[in-house]
Amino acid sequence: MTSPLFSLLPLGQPVLDNLDAMQYHSMTPIQAASLPLILEGRDIVAQAKTGSGKTAAFGLGIVHRLEPTAYHTQALVLCPTRELAEQVANELRRLARALGNIKILTLCGGTPIRPQVESLKFGAHVLVGTPGRIMDHIDRQTVDLGAIHTLVLDEADRMLDMGFFDDVAKIVRNCPATRQTLLFSATYADDIRKASARFLKQPAQVKVESVH
Ligand code: ADP
Ligand code: MG
Repeated sequence: MTSPLFSLLPLGQPVLDNLDAMQYHSMTPIQAASLPLILEGRDIVAQAKTGSGKTAAFGLGIVHRLEPTAYHTQALVLCPTRELAEQVANELRRLARALGNIKILTLCGGTPIRPQVESLKFGAHVLVGTPGRIMDHIDRQTVDLGAIHTLVLDEADRMLDMGFFDDVAKIVRNCPATRQTLLFSATYADDIRKASARFLKQPAQVKVESVH
């Protein structure tokens, strides 16, 4: 099987050099199938197993569009749990290293809200969080999603199983209609179809069976 190189993608040289430094040379199948569409700005529903490299697929989409010198929030990643949000934030920090000083904040439930409110005062390029806590911040007006360009629903199947559909719907209503929305899931059940019909615009569907 051929392994397409990241250097085939229309990514900036600093981002490509940073991928080299991370020892990410060839794309995993889900990255090869989704990244050309993501970088074109398409909405996608992507189905792939755990461990297939989904974080870098949407992470590079976010990094590609980030404006380091703009201090408004430019992307939001929703995850089902705090542990997953921390993992995603760490991978995003590594991918964004190429761009210099990029602030990525995690906002999850189960931790005190006050320190989050304080951190938000300094602004963040990217927010990663769980739907309930992001909704709390929207209600308190401590988070403004009015200018984001990318919304990611990571592990959407688990998020919906945990009963987050209504929170996700409310969060989406606070995002601009012009945003790009990327939905990642291990399954393609009815609730995922419903979520993609509701939250995405003419999404391309990407499905990959193998992990490597
Ligand atoms: P998923 O979200 O699909 O479960 P992750 O994004 O967590 O998968 O990636 C799984 C592992 O693969 C991580 O350790 C990550 O660093 C690594 N990885 C992702 N993409 C690549 C790549 N192109 N080359 C090498 N390693 C990669
Ligand atoms: Mg993942």
